[in-house]
Amino acid sequence: MMPRAHAAVFGDPVAHSLSPAMHQAAYRAMGLPWRYLKIRVPRGDLAAALRMADAARLRGVNLTIPLKEAALPLMDRLTPAARRAGAVNTVTFGDGGVEGHSTDGEGFIRSLADAWRWQPRGARVVLLGAGGAARSVAFALAAAGARRLVIMNRTSARAQELAARLRAAGEPGTAATPADAAAWRTLLAGTDLLVNATSLGLHGEPSPVPAAALPRALRVADLIYNPPSTALLRVARARGCRIVNGEGMLVHQGALSLERWSGGRAPAEVMRRALRLELSRR
Ligand code: NDP
Repeated sequence: MMPRAHAAVFGDPVAHSLSPAMHQAAYRAMGLPWRYLKIRVPRGDLAAALRMADAARLRGVNLTIPLKEAALPLMDRLTPAARRAGAVNTVTFGDGGVEGHSTDGEGFIRSLADAWRWQPRGARVVLLGAGGAARSVAFALAAAGARRLVIMNRTSARAQELAARLRAAGEPGTAATPADAAAWRTLLAGTDLLVNATSLGLHGEPSPVPAAALPRALRVADLIYNPPSTALLRVARARGCRIVNGEGMLVHQGALSLERWSGGRAPAEVMRRALRLELSRR
């Protein structure tokens, strides 16, 4: 039978996806004669699109909005990371069936190692957000040995739900709602890592955390990569904190997908340069 080759990203909308630029550059650097396609797939067409990609002997596909959760029941097998995250962003086709995996969380952990030579083992973390990205990051931080995870979200019921999910999996997880600047200061004084996993900052919104509450020793990560800096990252830098944006997470989630499909080491730096070039063109 024809060997499997090529990959694609499915989503709706998908025109904005930066994945083709990153993956295509990586294939060139690895000497892989593959193409990476961008295909608009509405949620209702996902099952058919997956069957077609499998029949066309693709190696795998990435999934983006709004397909990551919709894919769960369509997989023959889920990896523990996908099951914990409740989402699939990387599908691999093979003789053993269709496997769903999630690379977002591990991509985030790798981005911290890249930026800071730092692992979250034993870390006390405050996580802003309770959406899909927050869930992946929360479980990856727990798997990497974070000792405390405090979840905060505009809709506090969703923060409580995520905290309960963490605890049900035997991981540390609590929800909090700091009432004022003093409460923020107390909370962050005993925190090693603050992560923004909300979309606040995509459109120039002010920092969700009062600047004066950010201690110098705090590390601050924002999952947003476009714009490359948010108000949170700017105030954190002004306070002397170590900061990182979401670029590394995006690069590494892609690199981890490619490593599953190719079995080789993905050239993350090549993918990062391709991503920056593509962003500069938009
Ligand atoms: P979701 O829509 O699943 O979640 C959005 C989150 O942001 C929710 O917690 C939501 O709170 C919160 N939020 C939205 N608007 C506001 C607001 N005005 N005030 C306060 N909170 C708000 O999105 P994702 O989890 O997929 O993505 C979240 C962020 O992470 C995005 O900015 C996205 O760009 C980024 N991301 C980055 C990735 C990377 O590779 N670097 C990968 C994936 C995401 P509520 O529950 O109350 O609605």
